Amino acid sequence: MKLNLFMLITQESLMAFYQITYNKKYDFATLHNWGCTFRCPFCSYKLRGGADSKPGFMTPKPASFLTTEEIKTVLAGQRPKTVSLMGGEPSLAPDLEELLAFAKQELGAKTKLGHTNGTRIPTENLDYANVGFKAWSRDLHYRITGKPKDLIYTNFKNAWESGMQMEANLVYIPGFVGLDELEGLCGFLAGLDDTIPLRISGYIPVPGQPWKRPTKKQMAEAKETAEKYLKTVEASHLTVAEALDLSMRDDRFDVEVLI
Ligand code: SF4
Repeated sequence: MKLNLFMLITQESLMAFYQITYNKKYDFATLHNWGCTFRCPFCSYKLRGGADSKPGFMTPKPASFLTTEEIKTVLAGQRPKTVSLMGGEPSLAPDLEELLAFAKQELGAKTKLGHTNGTRIPTENLDYANVGFKAWSRDLHYRITGKPKDLIYTNFKNAWESGMQMEANLVYIPGFVGLDELEGLCGFLAGLDDTIPLRISGYIPVPGQPWKRPTKKQMAEAKETAEKYLKTVEASHLTVAEALDLSMRDDRFDVEVLI
């Protein structure tokens, strides 16, 4: 029995990607991974997995996973301009480097981590990463993620200095990840370059957590705070319904499933 469990975990960790979608209008393919190395209590994937979802595996387990060869075959058939990797946490895939090298060198595609927690950047053959920061305070960061803050902030700095195109994101949760946390992050980003784009995502209430969605006024205040430091700040303030169907507001999410 123990052996079977070990084999199951090994199989899951070896095959993190389970689906590939394609957006015709913008000509990009997205590889979707299952699982994450963090355990943020406010993770929006819980909207699909529910309050009882296991830390690190917030959505229901996919019926099957894709092999590296299957992924390469589908990408080679489509030859998209951009290959984007999404989560959970896409960088935990053991075939990450191989797939990035394939996309970049064999297909000539731009390569992106469309959303990452920042644990595995910079890496070769990766052009762009959007890092979702969780907190500025050391203890809050650890409490939220179960991982040290320095790893993520240092990785971001190294990736920026390596020439990668970088963007940042923070989930704003008044009373938990508040303006002081936002301000700390903005100071850090501005210290690297005040042109680094930041998106402030208003918290979307997930099952089993106590926080409220920020008000319009609180979102405006957060944006104003960030703009004291950074030149490009966007804010999103989605409802649960909008988060569950992002194609309602953004045609980049209007995709077909390739496999
Ligand atoms: S890093 Fe992102 S995907 Fe992972 S648990 Fe946190 S919010 Fe969810």
